[in-house]
Amino acid sequence: MAPSHVLKCCQRVLAWVPVVFIALVVAWSYYAYVVELCAFTITSTGEKVVYLVVFHLSFVMFVWSYWKTIFTSPASPSDEFCLSKSDKEQYEREERPESQQDILRRAAKDLPIYTTTASRAIRYCDRCQLIKPDRCHHCSACDLCVLKMDHHCPWVNNCVGFSNYKFFLLFLLYSLLYCLFVAATVLQYFIKFWTLCRRKSAENCPKNDLPDSHAKFHVLFLFFVAAMFFISILSLFSYHCWLVSKNRSTIEAFRAPTFRNGPDKNGFSLGCSKNLKEVFGDEKKYWLLPVFTSLGDGCNFPTRLVIMDPEQLTVSSQNEPAKSSGANQPFPVRPLSESQNRLLDNESQWVEGGSEEENVKSGAKKHVIVSLES
Ligand SMILES: [Zn+2]
Ligand SMILES: [Zn+2]
Repeated sequence: MAPSHVLKCCQRVLAWVPVVFIALVVAWSYYAYVVELCAFTITSTGEKVVYLVVFHLSFVMFVWSYWKTIFTSPASPSDEFCLSKSDKEQYEREERPESQQDILRRAAKDLPIYTTTASRAIRYCDRCQLIKPDRCHHCSACDLCVLKMDHHCPWVNNCVGFSNYKFFLLFLLYSLLYCLFVAATVLQYFIKFWTLCRRKSAENCPKNDLPDSHAKFHVLFLFFVAAMFFISILSLFSYHCWLVSKNRSTIEAFRAPTFRNGPDKNGFSLGCSKNLKEVFGDEKKYWLLPVFTSLGDGCNFPTRLVIMDPEQLTVSSQNEPAKSSGANQPFPVRPLSESQNRLLDNESQWVEGGSEEENVKSGAKKHVIVSLES
């Protein structure tokens, strides 16, 4: 076997170390809670039953969402984003970047693409040999282009993107609830054991109804570990809640996507409640279940800016200087998609220079900006 293959195999095995670590901590926490706390420490049957029922509920939801985050394959762009054989050959033959861009621009003409690189070039992945859809990025760890890529997470050894972002959020939510429940219910026993330990060390230990066994060790550590994980996950979860409310990925939070009028960090934001639905779906009953309900296909995203007619760029660029910078580079545009039409149906629209109806009647071609923020 070639050394590079051995190295790759080692890397693949090592990538599972954080996942195995988490799995071992979770397995230990299950044993410590169910056996050491509920079976050996708690004496009241009613308390035991309530604790065990709620514990298993949060445990199942946590493991389920964690499992789905790890084992849901990242979604990749469909074949329509790959260059045709002749285009690919021509692209490889060309050495000048301008000519290569011409080929890409021609190939991207009918694709649902709104964003470019910061330098106004078509986003192309040399590695996967495809035109990147909006919000798609190449992950070097997975070595593929991932739709609506958020980040590559070592704790799940997977890319977090369009196919599993909802699962990832639920994994954070249920791990928070799991840690919170464990820490809250263990607290009173933690205090009892802790004071018992301290009194013993002071050689002034009164009789205590708690079993002085190895349960003490598990209960003390259970509290520390649950509290520690709760605090560290809380900030990450809060950050992702903010990202969801803005319909922004982690990558986009650091580098705003470039639209026709320049970089716009809110380019995909449709208003808080619609942004939430983009990730969790239309039906609220599925929101808390780790089943896939995100809207769209991962390639085609509704944006705040809807181009009605690309030929009349000058109309809108008069008022917005940023737009004119790309005017000499034709931008790939798409017809209004179904998803956009759905959004347009119910939302108020603001049309530059009069109502949309008037413009359509008079044949005036305008750049329509859909005001979706409520
Ligand atoms: Zn790629
Ligand atoms: Zn990845």
